[in-house]
Parts: sequence; structure tokens; C-alpha cells
Amino acid sequence: MTESAASTNDTSDVLSIKTSWKNSLRLAYRDPYELLQHLGLANSHIQLAETTNFPLLVPREFVAKMVHGDPQDPLLRQVLPLVAENNRAPGFVADPNDEASFHHQAGLIQKYARRALIIVSGGCAINCRYCFRRHFPYEEAVGKARLDEAVQSLATSADISEVILSGGDPLLLDDNRLDELVQRIAELKHIVRLRIHTRLPVTIPQRLTDALQRTLSASRLKVVVVLHVNHPNELDAELAARLRNFHNAGVWLFNQSVLLRGVNDSVPTLAELCESLFDANIIPYYVHLLDKVSGSHHFAVSLRKARSLETQLRALLPGYLVPKFVHEVPHAEAKTPLHLL
Ligand SMILES: *Cc1c(COP(=O)(O)O)cnc(C)c1O
Ligand code: SF4
Repeated sequence: MTESAASTNDTSDVLSIKTSWKNSLRLAYRDPYELLQHLGLANSHIQLAETTNFPLLVPREFVAKMVHGDPQDPLLRQVLPLVAENNRAPGFVADPNDEASFHHQAGLIQKYARRALIIVSGGCAINCRYCFRRHFPYEEAVGKARLDEAVQSLATSADISEVILSGGDPLLLDDNRLDELVQRIAELKHIVRLRIHTRLPVTIPQRLTDALQRTLSASRLKVVVVLHVNHPNELDAELAARLRNFHNAGVWLFNQSVLLRGVNDSVPTLAELCESLFDANIIPYYVHLLDKVSGSHHFAVSLRKARSLETQLRALLPGYLVPKFVHEVPHAEAKTPLHLL
């Protein structure tokens, strides 16, 4: 998954590589036994699943936020391939959002009015076990030709005013190439907003480089970065400091989470998450009900419980800190609020 990204590393400058996010990618854990050993859990009798097409992948910066010796750690749970992944449950399928049926016209996906999504990269810096992407044969690296095609097709879509860079994780793309892409999008007069959906800063905070900040703050486009944080322990001082720079540079920061059993399915955890997000200048945007992708049944939270969590959260927090609880219903016109399900 990250091999291609890592292999593009500029090996000419050893010092910068030592501190670069790409080096973090290369050093990421790929062996679950090695990870368990590092966490002091080698003898914990955790039963692991065999994984071939969606292996363990977790950067050391994310591992550093896990609690040593805790087999129930909420961050560990998100990345460890438990044997429970082999359980088959009714309704859990390979492609829950019917992605395969959407028109991927020239590198663009348009599901909703006035917003179009570009798949900038097929890979991620972390493999989240609940991800709907886990069975998807996405291209690992999206070539320049494909991105050119996407921009060209945007140029002829006058009804689109917002472009979403997504993936996989779009921030796997080099700063140089991202800068070029953002500039080309900004040349299109009908585009007013640029959105980036990414989990990379949460897994490797160093990805929030000065160069990226310059690209985003220099653009005439309004820029929104939507992060993916599921648990308050994922936020730390390094990430908050880098986010502050982006915030001060005029970048809007939002967050989406997935509601996950054993990770964040309690009122205290969600409330702490929302408040910690705001401390880091991030507005809680969405909490998604799990996409029913096969292998993720052990993360499922019932609709009834999800509604109850939302209600309790609303009674506890200022309105602007309560995220919208939604579910992705294939072919609906927007993300669907739980009360309409
Ligand atoms: C979720 C999603 C969007 C963005 O939806 P918002 O409700 O505006 O956040 C856009 N395109 C696709 C394909 C999506 O899945
Ligand atoms: S970062 Fe997002 S897209 Fe990537 S594996 Fe995790 S949930 Fe899936």
C-alpha cells in the first residue's frame, strides 16, 4: 500500500528523510506480532486473523498514542486484524455503498449536487480494519494522466463548485504535485471551495508540512480539511500545534468519525472527543454509522444505540460541538441523518 509512496522518496537528502513523513511511512508497523511485542502484549493470547489483501499497516507515531500493555486500547483496536474479522454476518458485504455502480467518469466521482470527488491516491498511511475500502481493488498510485483527466472533466462541469480530494488518502501525494493540482483547480472559475478528506495528519502529524500550508493558504479557494479522528487519544500536542498553524493560515478544520464498538461508543468518550477536537481548532462534523463491510461486524453499533448516544450528546454539549450522526445510504441525495433511517 505504501510501498509506492515510500519508493518515491528523495534519497538525495539524508537529513530531511530522517525527519520526513515519508520516512515514517517506511518505518510503519506491518507485522502484527511485532506491534504486539512493542506494546508488551506478546503473551496476551490475542487471536489474530490472517490477512492478505488488507494487511496491518500502522505508523509508529500512531502507535505512540496507544497505552502500553492494554489489549483493549481503542487505537489498537482500530488497526489490529482480530480473528473476529473472519465472522460472516448477514448484511455485511464487500461493497456496502455500491461504489462499483457509480460513474467514475474520468477520475471524478459525483454522488451529490455541486460537489465532485477526485480519488487522488488509492492507498492510506494506516489500514483501519472497519474501512469500506478493505475489499476494494483501488489503484495504489493514481497517475498524473488520471489527475489531468479529472481536472479536464471538472473544467467542463460548470455546475460543480466544490472539489473534494479523497482516496485512499490524498495527502500521500507529494507536496509538489499537490501544489500543482490545487493551482490547476483554482484556475477553474466556477470552483469556489476545495476540500481535503484525510487521516494522514492524525497518523503522521509531520505530514502537515510548511509547504502544504503555503499551498493551501496561497490559494484563492476556500480550503476545508476534513480529518478523521475517532478517539480523543488520537489527538496530541504535536498534531494540535501543526493544526494551529493551518487554522491561523485560514484553513477550515472539520472532523468525521466512525462510530465503533469498543472504540468510541460511549457518551463520555464522544463528549471528550468533541471537546478535544475543538481545543485543536477542529469542528466535529459527522459521526458515521459503520458501513456494513464484511469483516467489520465486531465494530457494529446498533441504530438504536447510535440514536441514544446522539440524543445524550446533544443534552451535554453546546450545539456547535454536536456532530451530525449520519449513515451512507447508497444512491441517496446526501448522507442520511439517523432519524430518517
Ligand atoms: C460524503 C461524500 C461527499 C461529501 O458529502 P458532504 O455531506 O458534503 O460532506 C461528496 N462526495 C461523495 C462521493 C461522498 O461520499
Ligand atoms: S484512513 Fe480512511 S480510507 Fe484509509 S483505511 Fe482508514 S478509514 Fe479507510
